[in-house]
Amino acid sequence: MSKTFPSSVVQEAYDCGIREFGENKVQELLSKKKKLPGDIRWHLIGHLQTNKVKQVLGEVVLIHSLDRLSLVREIERQAEKKGIRQVDCLIQVNISREESKFGVLPEAIGPLVEAVSRDSVIKILGLMGIAPFTEDEQQIRESFRMIRRVQDEMRSKFVFHKWDILSIGMTQDYCWAIEEGGNLIRIGSAVFGARSIQG
Ligand SMILES: *Cc1c(COP(=O)(O)O)cnc(C)c1O
Repeated sequence: MSKTFPSSVVQEAYDCGIREFGENKVQELLSKKKKLPGDIRWHLIGHLQTNKVKQVLGEVVLIHSLDRLSLVREIERQAEKKGIRQVDCLIQVNISREESKFGVLPEAIGPLVEAVSRDSVIKILGLMGIAPFTEDEQQIRESFRMIRRVQDEMRSKFVFHKWDILSIGMTQDYCWAIEEGGNLIRIGSAVFGARSIQG
């Protein structure tokens, strides 16, 4: 996660061999993308406003934050306009059930997936979740196990989506995330140092 860090710092990480970067604001992502090497695989991680869909389609390899029907429909609409044939997404799950967090409550995932038809441009590759705001290892692990169970359930129910990716784990908890089955982790400060401003 390179959010808030300037392109020059992202370039340094690139020079060390990193090729996947995540941003949580469309504007910031696009402006960095313009300045940085073309083989970077950009991820949009964070709330996606419906009116930004148009700008982000075709610019990222994965949208980690599919979380509502209106976003599904807007992605489909804009992809058709732009002639884009496939948009890879993760559904963001509100695993902590904190009101301040974006994401779909676990029980609402099924209905959202049902709204993405087999021939939609949207391909759901898995789930993304942010652990509850705590340092309690057991509580964090339990939230990861819960999202993993939801993923297994989705895999058996909706076989035409892939469900291969489980994007959990940040600097504080990525080791636990991997142990609990996470296979995509979103590391910010452990790579770039502490952020001086809020992402
Ligand atoms: C900022 C951010 C991260 C990275 O956080 P660190 O604690 O710096 O590793 C991961 N995921 C999301 C959704 C973020 O917003």
